[in-house]
Amino acid sequence: MKKTLFSFLAVLFMALSLHAQDKVTQKVLELGKTDNRTMEHADYIARNIGGRIVGSHMLNHAEDWVAEQFRSWGLEVRIQEAVTIGVGFDRGPWSGRMLSEDGFALHFGTPAYTAGTRGPQKGRVYLEPKNQREFDRVKGALKGSWVLLETGATSGLAIDASPKADSTRAAQLAEGKKDIQVPMYRQMVEAGVLGFIRPAQLPMQVLYNRAMCFDLTMDNLPRACDILLDEHQFEIIKRKCVNREDFQLEFDIRNHFFPGPMKYHNILGVIKGTQYPDEYVMMGSHLDAYDIATGSTDDGQGVCVTMEAARLLAAAGARPKRSIMFCIWTGEEYGLLGSKYFVEQKTIPWNKISNYFNRDGGPLAASSVTVPPAMYDDFVKACEPLFNYNPDIPFTVNKREGEPQPRPTRAGGSDHAYFAMNGIPAISFREMDVFGYDFIYRDIWHTEDDLYDKLIPAYMEHSAVVQAVTAYGLANLNHLLSREGLYKD
Ligand SMILES: [Zn+2]
Repeated sequence: MKKTLFSFLAVLFMALSLHAQDKVTQKVLELGKTDNRTMEHADYIARNIGGRIVGSHMLNHAEDWVAEQFRSWGLEVRIQEAVTIGVGFDRGPWSGRMLSEDGFALHFGTPAYTAGTRGPQKGRVYLEPKNQREFDRVKGALKGSWVLLETGATSGLAIDASPKADSTRAAQLAEGKKDIQVPMYRQMVEAGVLGFIRPAQLPMQVLYNRAMCFDLTMDNLPRACDILLDEHQFEIIKRKCVNREDFQLEFDIRNHFFPGPMKYHNILGVIKGTQYPDEYVMMGSHLDAYDIATGSTDDGQGVCVTMEAARLLAAAGARPKRSIMFCIWTGEEYGLLGSKYFVEQKTIPWNKISNYFNRDGGPLAASSVTVPPAMYDDFVKACEPLFNYNPDIPFTVNKREGEPQPRPTRAGGSDHAYFAMNGIPAISFREMDVFGYDFIYRDIWHTEDDLYDKLIPAYMEHSAVVQAVTAYGLANLNHLLSREGLYKD
């Protein structure tokens, strides 16, 4: 009799906990449709904050805002200092004009951590001298002038102005090497040029001063501007130079350096597990973004989706067996710095992470996931509530066919890299342009067009629900996901 009562209670308890789980999931699904706030977060990140590179006050502001949001939803917040940079960099507005009878406004950008002007500065324009003889012919005229560099297509990185690059250029010049990029760079800076102008394809990609930003002090700041100009305007101006026409360019560029050190953080929101609190299902996106535009898709959209997944679960009263961690990374654009630090510090022991889901790559709809055979049943169970959720955006779990890939040995792509390199499952959702909006991430990636209007609300809102439901389902399993057959080794 006792035994029967015991098993009855056990069954009842199981049924109740299953019911509780269903209730949370049902609530997430319902809130996902009736009170989805993904685009509220996006509005704040893209329109209120905007560009937020490592080095800027805006990135600190964004960190504070994320942490505050997490706290207001009842999450536990851990703040992990991950990046320090000696000199800070903030960006104000920038504008420029060609001053002549047929003058026009200039369409341009400057990489982060490059020089601004001292108020509006105007000067004549010269074509780049390519050797000592050409330099000697113009050296007296270069002071206070702008110089056109015919570098061809650019990735958007700043010209390498480091001492090492100077000595490389000098050595190449001495060897008589051809095709040296900006061979007389240092001589022109010493001669007092206002700055350099390179042609940029549209929409222009404008990145940062990768060569020097971490080595700068207030005593060795860049002096000459580094301007990327609409290639069509560049051609017009170049023709005027060739024709020796009389005209000037004026630029007003508010690039501000200030003494650091500036510190940046991973913001980690946690819903604590009830049975296995030291085991984690994780998801994340990066908060830092280039500042030529507003980092709306890269990776504002990912941050918004990750945040909304957290909010939906918290609002639904989720108390999963295992902990769920929502990672808002720093320093991705400068080399995956935040997620690398997190993994290498073993912030969470590697064998306690069930899976890390990364989202960074366009505001598309998470519409499927492909997993190794050993994970298949668990994923089906976790994702089951999604199968009939939105008929317009069907969701499927696919079993990987064929051999596993070798474990990656080099970091690249995004914040999943250091997880994967260390054998931690970092399976991500496949994101699709389900409705056929002709979205091509490459069109806007790292460009001046990475703006709020490129976001696709229906896809992002849907993805927040997918991430929340899946993470919750995996966190409620009786075990961590199997790593069998994850990688080749
Ligand atoms: Zn990104």
